[in-house]
Amino acid sequence: MPVKVGIPRALLFYEYYSLWIGFFEELGAEVIISSKTNKEIVDKGVKNTVDEACLPVKVFHGHVIDLKDRVDYVFVPRIISVSKNEYICPKFCGLPEMVKHSIDGLPEFIDTSIDFRKSDKNLNKTVMEIGRYITKDTKKIGRAFEHAMERYRQYKVNLKMGLLPIDILKEKSLVKVSDSISREKVLLLGHPYNIYDSYLSMEIVDKLRRNNLTVLTYDSLEEDVIKKKADTLDKKMFWSFGRKIIGTALKAIEDDEVRGIIYLSSFGCGLDSVIADIVERRIRRGSNKPFTMLSLDEHTGEAGVDTRIEAFVDMIRWREEHENNLSAYR
Ligand code: SF4
Repeated sequence: MPVKVGIPRALLFYEYYSLWIGFFEELGAEVIISSKTNKEIVDKGVKNTVDEACLPVKVFHGHVIDLKDRVDYVFVPRIISVSKNEYICPKFCGLPEMVKHSIDGLPEFIDTSIDFRKSDKNLNKTVMEIGRYITKDTKKIGRAFEHAMERYRQYKVNLKMGLLPIDILKEKSLVKVSDSISREKVLLLGHPYNIYDSYLSMEIVDKLRRNNLTVLTYDSLEEDVIKKKADTLDKKMFWSFGRKIIGTALKAIEDDEVRGIIYLSSFGCGLDSVIADIVERRIRRGSNKPFTMLSLDEHTGEAGVDTRIEAFVDMIRWREEHENNLSAYR
């Protein structure tokens, strides 16, 4: 019987699922992904997490509960840094302990530390440490990682060609997505777990596409383009996702095909309060593109979000018809 590894469909799952699933499958494990976020998962997460936690962390708890009785291990890495000289939100460093102390009856966690802050020299050590939960064969672990990386690179290529991570998860092809591709684009900013979790985002991607708008995210841009733009900030942005979000926003300001920008944030997120503020100032200073900020929490109602999206789309259409996309006040 293969070892069963559970991966919560939450937080950085939407960034790395292709790599993580590929790696464990290459090692011979059976990978079980938690169910799509639903009301039950959110409610259980909220009930089992401290009140101060942000919504994505609460939802992560709900996904672990969804997996706990059906797997041998749950993959909850202690992520400190994913890029040199950069950090991610401190909530990720304490995530394994936080979950272990909040939920009873858990299986063992694969909670290896991932820290590439100084360099990625310890990548091999990290990979071996994770792989040893499944096999002691170091050569097999090395090969599995190489194959998984190959899959991950191809996955990244598909993103640059117009797919979003949720399309690949739904196994949508480029042909199907290109049916809805229009020259009018909307940039969706925010952390991946807010944008790509359809339940939390209230299917914002589908709603925008139904309005004949192509949805871009930072995944649609090349990393070096984002970096170059983010490097123009007076002060270096040392949060990895903050850098991506700001770099993407700055690039979109110059792109005439991007008709508007939406920032999807979690209520109570300290990072978003800083990043979104910088983004909004830059957009308002550097362009006349419609910008809207949607803040999500467990009480957010879909009707309210729909109204905001409708108003946002109306604003884009109105400008096209009446202002030739130029503000009347300029
Ligand atoms: S960045 Fe914000 S939303 Fe994400 S885990 Fe940290 S506090 Fe929560």
